[in-house]
Amino acid sequence: MLSTIRIRPGPPARALFGHPWAFLGELMITSNNIEPGACVELLDIKGRSLGSGIWNPKSQIAWRRYSRRSISLDGPLLEERITTAIKRRTGRSLGRLIWSEADNLPGLIVDRYHDLLTVQTLTLGMDLRLERILEILQRVVGPREMVIRNEASSRTLEGMPQYIRTASGNPLEPSWMDVGGVQYLVDLVAGQKTGMYLDQIEQHQKVATYAKGRRVLDTFCNQGGFALACAKAGASSVLGIDSSEDAIVAARKAAEHNGLNAQFEVANVFDWFTEHREATFDLIILDPPPFARNKDSVEGAIRGYKELNLRAMRLLAPDGILATYSCSHRVSSAMYMELIEAAAADARREGIVLERVSQPTDHPVMLNFPESRYLKGFILEIRA
Ligand code: SAH
Repeated sequence: MLSTIRIRPGPPARALFGHPWAFLGELMITSNNIEPGACVELLDIKGRSLGSGIWNPKSQIAWRRYSRRSISLDGPLLEERITTAIKRRTGRSLGRLIWSEADNLPGLIVDRYHDLLTVQTLTLGMDLRLERILEILQRVVGPREMVIRNEASSRTLEGMPQYIRTASGNPLEPSWMDVGGVQYLVDLVAGQKTGMYLDQIEQHQKVATYAKGRRVLDTFCNQGGFALACAKAGASSVLGIDSSEDAIVAARKAAEHNGLNAQFEVANVFDWFTEHREATFDLIILDPPPFARNKDSVEGAIRGYKELNLRAMRLLAPDGILATYSCSHRVSSAMYMELIEAAAADARREGIVLERVSQPTDHPVMLNFPESRYLKGFILEIRA
């Protein structure tokens, strides 16, 4: 039998409408004797079950659902959940293997880089089960090494320390890896995110289909994923810009290693646009970091996105292509479309939508969990 906790009367909690989280303020806490990290069944006001979740009263998100049933995660369920997530990605050797709530494993994120895995436990419930998770992954996937990337700042909100280590305890050197036909030196121990922006690999390939003979500008290029895919596809010139010096060093190294012709510059993209009002490109990629990290920053984020799209449109030759993305879940696809339209109006340019794109299927959108619906993009043709 699982311990139970009830929703408190008041404004309807989102868990009543299928959302997999319950906030501390939404709950009636009658006793303090439920262990943080334990499996807890959530009940509505009438005592009907809303499913089982992991409990951590140290976090504002005190309960995170892993099942609609009344069931512990400590029986066979954990392994079942892990193998189901892995089956969902059959045939993928690079990408996200387990994505938290969307895979019914709240707080567990596992990325696969061919024969290596990175593992993050961002909730106390998953952190307490880390050794079992590593044992299951080793047995089911059989990686050469696993890197536990537990340096996310959100861990402190759950009362947990930040650290990075390998499963074996041995150091792991960066290694060259094939990503869509281009080799990158991937550092799973110290690289940004878990080494690469895996969620944009599909888009690198898609955008590259427009690149042949075009002058390409890849802004927020990180290690040059878009830039190098475009260079490989026959772009006439390629320039990548990122503010991270490490990312640019990696991009240059990859260009050289693959014998691809692309230039990279360390710069703030906003400043760069201000200093280069006369440049002309035929294909521009805008792939900024999430500007809206919380509710209060949405307005500022929209202004920032609009400004970038406006600047990019101004630098595009007639019939140029703009591939523009947002990974803020608070900025919806409709909102993004609207600000692109406002930018086009201000730039006095006409455009058509060639493609509307979204996140890859290894980052599945979960119904009633808007936080999972984060990446949106438009590939546009911007006319004279
Ligand atoms: N396009 C990349 C992923 C981009 S992630 C890919 O497909 O792999 C966002 C990138 O923006 C990060 O590399 C970060 O270093 C960079 N960045 C953040 N703010 C920036 C700014 N103001 N100017 C330039 N780069 C910035």
